[in-house]
Amino acid sequence: MKRAFAPLLLLTLLLTSCGSQAGPEPVTPTEPVTGTVFAMDTVMDFTIYGEETLLAAAESRIHALEAKLSVTEESSEIYAINHNGSGHVSADTADLLDQALALCGQTGGALDLSIYPVVRAWGFTTGDYGVPETEELAELLAHVDYTKIDFDRKQSAVTLPPDMEIDLGSVAKGYTGDQILSLLREAGVTSALLNLGGNVQALGSKPDGSPWRIGVQNPLGDGYIGVLEVTDQAVITSGGYERYFVEDGETYWHIIDPATGAPTHSGLISVTIIGGSGLMCDGLSTALFVMGLEDAAQFWRETGNFEAVFVTEDGQITITEGLTDRFSLADESPFDEVAVLYQE
Ligand code: AMP
Ligand code: MG
Repeated sequence: MKRAFAPLLLLTLLLTSCGSQAGPEPVTPTEPVTGTVFAMDTVMDFTIYGEETLLAAAESRIHALEAKLSVTEESSEIYAINHNGSGHVSADTADLLDQALALCGQTGGALDLSIYPVVRAWGFTTGDYGVPETEELAELLAHVDYTKIDFDRKQSAVTLPPDMEIDLGSVAKGYTGDQILSLLREAGVTSALLNLGGNVQALGSKPDGSPWRIGVQNPLGDGYIGVLEVTDQAVITSGGYERYFVEDGETYWHIIDPATGAPTHSGLISVTIIGGSGLMCDGLSTALFVMGLEDAAQFWRETGNFEAVFVTEDGQITITEGLTDRFSLADESPFDEVAVLYQE
């Protein structure tokens, strides 16, 4: 009898230790709690092997971040900076801005936070879609240059040159995912999956120890092109199919090449980045979509801290070397071949 009670006692000790200074011990429930939140213009789904109350905690953290980062919400920090030309930012916005500006530099400006007025001119933030006049684009592009964003880290102060506006839309969801995973980790959760509008971020593995299986969306239609097995990683896709409009038979999507001010025509139709940081994967998915396959491959070889799945408009899937054992074509995939990029 004594022996039979031992596991129960241990479990009780683990549960009561949650509030102690030693930090929470992992206790993984067998059934997850699930929830859906609408925020940042997208549907967010959570699967958490943890306490029900974590859903509300995650939701309130997301709404707090959105209130700071939104480019359209008049009370946000980013809105204030865009409308006053300068402003102070909270620790969250400073942290995100710091890392996002580093990615702008690392990608040689393929990611550029100051592209926002151009994105708006195409109607992507307003829904009032249309091809802008060439002169209008040239005028707007003259003020696109992330190197001119003056970010004083010590003072947490941002100053923009006249006529520049910034937007963190290309990285905000990845950063938000990172923050929610930290919140869950601190609560002792060891297994969870977040899907923030197609940005999937995994905490740990499934409770049985097997990797999470994440579908990579088919950029040409419904369903998935393949499945990735991941543990403790983010899988973040940028695709032309996510937001676009058609005018006179031409498709114009929401990812803009800062070199031209027009939707990118790099030959890629989707880029999925797999890595440890949601923010990095989010920024790189946008940036490598702009670069095109050749430059993106070079960037991957030089950088080396992420893996990627590229889909080109001529119907080719290319994966990086590190995914060869972790990527498989989905049954419904319209593709039947996968090329592999190797480190040279
Ligand atoms: P994502 O879905 O993460 O690829 O982010 C795309 C969003 O980022 C777009 O809807 C625009 O608001 C913005 N964006 C588009 N092109 C760029 C770019 N080259 N650099 C930074 N942000 C961009
Ligand atoms: Mg992105």
